[in-house]
Amino acid sequence: MARITAIKHSEFVLIGGGIMSATLAILLYEKFPGKKITIIEKLPKVAEESSEAWNNAGTGHSGNCELNYTPEKNGIVNPEKALKTAEQFHETLDFWKNCAEKGYIHNLSKCISSVPHISFVEGKRDVDFLERRWNVLKETEYFKDMLFSTDREKIAEWVPLMVKGRNKRSKIAATYIKDGYDVNFGEIAEQIFRYLEKQPNIQLIKNSNVINLQKTDNKRWLLTVKGQNVGKHWKMVSNYLFIGAGGGALSLLEKSNIREARGYGGFPISGLWLRCTNPEIIEQHQAKVYGKAKKGAPPMSVPHMDTRVINGRKELLFGPYAGFTTKFLKHGSYFDLPKSVEFDNIMSLLGAGYHNLPLVGYLVKQVSLKFEDRMEMLREFYPEAKDEDWKVVVAGQRVQIIKKSAKGFGKLEFGTEVIVSKDKTIAALLGASPGASTSYSVMKTVVEKCFN
Ligand SMILES: Cc1cc2nc3c(=O)[nH]c(=O)nc-3n(C[C@H](O)[C@H](O)[C@H](O)COP(=O)(O)OP(=O)(O)OC[C@H]3O[C@@H](n4cnc5c(N)ncnc54)[C@H](O)[C@@H]3O)c2cc1C
Repeated sequence: MARITAIKHSEFVLIGGGIMSATLAILLYEKFPGKKITIIEKLPKVAEESSEAWNNAGTGHSGNCELNYTPEKNGIVNPEKALKTAEQFHETLDFWKNCAEKGYIHNLSKCISSVPHISFVEGKRDVDFLERRWNVLKETEYFKDMLFSTDREKIAEWVPLMVKGRNKRSKIAATYIKDGYDVNFGEIAEQIFRYLEKQPNIQLIKNSNVINLQKTDNKRWLLTVKGQNVGKHWKMVSNYLFIGAGGGALSLLEKSNIREARGYGGFPISGLWLRCTNPEIIEQHQAKVYGKAKKGAPPMSVPHMDTRVINGRKELLFGPYAGFTTKFLKHGSYFDLPKSVEFDNIMSLLGAGYHNLPLVGYLVKQVSLKFEDRMEMLREFYPEAKDEDWKVVVAGQRVQIIKKSAKGFGKLEFGTEVIVSKDKTIAALLGASPGASTSYSVMKTVVEKCFN
């Protein structure tokens, strides 16, 4: 039996040291000056899970190039999601600029880089769709500078690697937005935490895994925390609790026993990238290029070939290739999925599996892909790609939300969900899309729901 050491107190406790907690910590720090805020992180460093640069695609999602944000029905393109994401991204971008002005972020240029955003398609049907999409978007303020072309020479100016060696008879098209962004979300979180750690009322505790939480009689939250290095357990009491534990959020939310959390489940999807190792090739590509998802593929598996800027170095990634795992975190346990099954959510989980058989089939196929198959998929983007210039690297984990539908069965959701208890003392974030790009808008919602 582990020894329980001292009980600590804090007005606010934020579980998890990713970009979401970093953002919320700043909002609370400004709204409640002098109040004690504690952030508890399981790993030895902050932002080592989904927020870490190599674990995500670093796209400042703003609807510029993501074709799944503009679904089409009966020939009519719906721009709603692209417009909402653009608004939330620009709001978040302004927040980061503001953080830099106030000194919370000390080196913004290490965090965000300007990289054009491009959608690229091949084949008449998709070319026609892209043109219809462009016709709708260019009429709006956010996308008024979007360019469209079917001209190979023009497209080759934007993305030379994608045109060279391509069948000359195939129809291709692209849209181009110059002012897109690559974002190092992990760097943003790290810089914010570095600032916050120095403030007298803020405490960042690393190497500490929150293993249990319960409501006390006087309506506060009692957390049990396990120190990873020393193996000691300690307790923490707080008035307000935010679960920003990424893939770890669901199991903590289940432990809270709040009504609002009932029926939720999680479906983990892992990811792999192909990373370019040839500097000459990396230099020839300067864009984030999104294509169309394959049939049955989940929206987060839309293939893209991305210029990245990580620690001041230009990189080139292709993917992500999805896969199935039972882990909810990259540094998690294979028991995460089985342990998340409860009486309350078992029907949701079974229902979601049954109603998403094409997705399950897609994931099974992705898991069995060999390196050669992955290179073949890359060649649909970059026809002359050579095996020796690419290697496989592991991306982060996503846990898609399974939500109870009106009929009691589960529905797989690809968005983000903020869950707040009726008494507003606990909030949690589930899901991963559009993700870190909209972190300010999402955390602002948490503050509004809990404190207004
Ligand atoms: C493959 C992939 C590609 C993506 N691409 C993009 C993209 O291009 N653009 C975009 O905007 N978003 C993207 N995302 C989503 C984005 O990465 C996430 O939305 C964002 O990083 C989530 O931040 P977070 O702070 O909620 O979670 P995380 O960064 O995962 O942080 C959670 C933290 O909680 C800690 N933790 C977990 N359990 C506990 C516990 N019990 N006790 C203490 N600490 C705990 C973890 O160690 C971790 O540090 C992508 C994600 C993936 C996986």
